[in-house]
Amino acid sequence: MKPKLLIDLDKVKQNATELVRVAHEQNVTVTGITKGDCGNLDFAHTLVESGVDYLADSRVENLKKLSSLMIEKMLLRSPKLSEVQDVVRYADYSLNTELKVIEALSNAARSQNKTHQIILMIDVGDLREGIWFEDDTAILTAVNKTLQLPNVHLAGIGTNLTCFGGIIPTRKNYGIIHQIAHHIRQTFNIELPIISGGNSSSLHMLYETGIAGGINNIRVNQAIFTGQEIAFGQQLNGWASDVIRLQAEIIELQTKPSKPIGRKAYMNAFGKPSTFSDKGLRKRAILAIGKQDVDIHGLVAMDLGITIEGASSDHLIVDVTDSVLKLQVGDTIDFQVTTYASVLSGMASNYIEQRIYHEVL
Ligand SMILES: *Cc1c(COP(=O)(O)O)cnc(C)c1O
Repeated sequence: MKPKLLIDLDKVKQNATELVRVAHEQNVTVTGITKGDCGNLDFAHTLVESGVDYLADSRVENLKKLSSLMIEKMLLRSPKLSEVQDVVRYADYSLNTELKVIEALSNAARSQNKTHQIILMIDVGDLREGIWFEDDTAILTAVNKTLQLPNVHLAGIGTNLTCFGGIIPTRKNYGIIHQIAHHIRQTFNIELPIISGGNSSSLHMLYETGIAGGINNIRVNQAIFTGQEIAFGQQLNGWASDVIRLQAEIIELQTKPSKPIGRKAYMNAFGKPSTFSDKGLRKRAILAIGKQDVDIHGLVAMDLGITIEGASSDHLIVDVTDSVLKLQVGDTIDFQVTTYASVLSGMASNYIEQRIYHEVL
């Protein structure tokens, strides 16, 4: 039996519905994101049922899987020049920085008799995608050229924060986006309807002060899985945190010391020096799952008496001495999946069976 990753769609719906409620109250539209579970159709359908305004993914092959859903779709990552035909075919919008790509999108859209919607990305300091906010000339040139292309429409500007540089949204950096939008609207006398702000790191602002800077769209993925905003790592009120569980099977159950015995190598098989505390003899289980299957750092055993001691490529070592469960070889142990890195790796792993379900009430 493969390890199982279980996604509870009722909890996805609870979180997405609450997100849509609080955003719509502030006239902010919501882009529901499917990249965390590789464009799964049932998951996407649940987001649509929860009332999101758009669906988005960073990979066009995932958007292709969602073509049966009647909702506008966005490609989150700048299109590859080599895929513009598919981008125009499967996405209504894409987030862009490069004029060369926008030109290619216009050509592809013309060949398909379509108009493709462009959101121009501005980098306000996190240093991932976008034209640098201080480069007025580059911003105005990109807008000007985009407006002249026949088969693209400049629908808005956007920014992304926290994903690379760890910078959180503030009145200051969202204020910059607002000023740039205002400047573009004035200079070119266009509507520029969308100002798309950040991601799960904007949620604290949405709840605490209301979203700043005229941002009228947010794009959210990881909070749907973890129930946490990511600016301060707070659990969100009314959101479920246990959306995803992982089950793995016990293949060995032995009593051993907690501290290895013998002369130590300069590092272990994963390039890290290893340190262990001496807790005496402990009951330890080995589970048939490891670093090749999933990022283990985000796993927390549902039975709080069980602690993760570490993992190698195919083995997860847990201390079960204080567990209330009467565990045996062949039993499974359940973990809550608490980080985005664990969700992403577990969903994309061929070694794990992903099961997306509605709780049987
Ligand atoms: C992944 C992604 C998001 C979602 O980020 P979360 O922090 O997971 O909510 C938003 N915008 C872009 C451009 C992304 O690539």
